[in-house]
Amino acid sequence: MKAAIFEKPGLDNLKVVDNVELPNVGDHDILIKVHQCGVNPIDYKIISGLVPAKPMPHIPGCEISGTIEKIGSHVVDDSLSKGDKVVVHSRLSDGTCDMCLNGLDMLCRNGGIIGAITNGGFAEYIAIPQRSVFKIPEKMEWDMAASLPVTTLTSFHALKEASLKFNEYILIFGASGNTGMMAIQFAKRMGAKVIAVSKHEWIKDFGADYIIREYDKVVEKVKEITNGKMADVVLNSVGIETWDNSFNCVGTNGRLVSFGGLTGSDVKINVQSLYQRQVKLIGSNGGTLGEIQELIDISEGLKKTKTWKRFKLDEIKEAIKSLSSKERDGRILLEID
Ligand SMILES: [Zn+2]
Repeated sequence: MKAAIFEKPGLDNLKVVDNVELPNVGDHDILIKVHQCGVNPIDYKIISGLVPAKPMPHIPGCEISGTIEKIGSHVVDDSLSKGDKVVVHSRLSDGTCDMCLNGLDMLCRNGGIIGAITNGGFAEYIAIPQRSVFKIPEKMEWDMAASLPVTTLTSFHALKEASLKFNEYILIFGASGNTGMMAIQFAKRMGAKVIAVSKHEWIKDFGADYIIREYDKVVEKVKEITNGKMADVVLNSVGIETWDNSFNCVGTNGRLVSFGGLTGSDVKINVQSLYQRQVKLIGSNGGTLGEIQELIDISEGLKKTKTWKRFKLDEIKEAIKSLSSKERDGRILLEID
């Protein structure tokens, strides 16, 4: 089969070849014909060696959608058949550790990311344990499917971790980023009042109640909108660049949720300000197997993320390079099939 593969880390070492052996399909596995993958910063980290990858040579690709090609002989789910559209939960888990047993499979003590601890989806086919494969409605668009397992699930889980409530104010930094576009929609569905920080005009289509375009005026604008109370929940997926403003915009007894550090992770924090306002700092990581099913169930009516560029498998290097482009304005998708 055709696949993007590297023998040692480094983007220059990534090659597209068409003589890779088809993956072995275990008794409990599903062989997926990959249709479309999301391209994410994590893929860059794996390819460049910042996140260790195995096996070597290695096929990257963490956010996978496709159709069922073959079903392992011990797969008991009768509802699955060849040709069904599916997405792959991007974190493998053992199902037996204390985290898994408590429904926190994305924190599995023996797990890891598909495309990092196993070969990934930048290939024509991939074999995945059945418990990580989720059937999606036939009518779901591929662009939505390819954004479910990482982009959409991450923001969905983060809002749940934040315990966002009806009528609360949520402030979303990086609102025009991949996770931001979905977070706005989920927050609206949860009944919150959404303040999005973005300089892009098109972000209004995602349904935010307020849009703050001038980043250096975020604190005063949030003060104005909330009548001085500031935000109940602040979502920061950007990292250090927006950290101080994120922290300063959390209201008394509010929650600051982080699930990304693209611009850097070594932030400073004023402890006195933290405890005096009783601010809760919350880290959020991926989402559970149960939540991806929940997402599929509520997916109808969700607006898909804005796609900036599409690439073919042969153009994988360009796709990865585009991740850090200054002009980047929406999702990068990789079409395999
Ligand atoms: Zn586990």
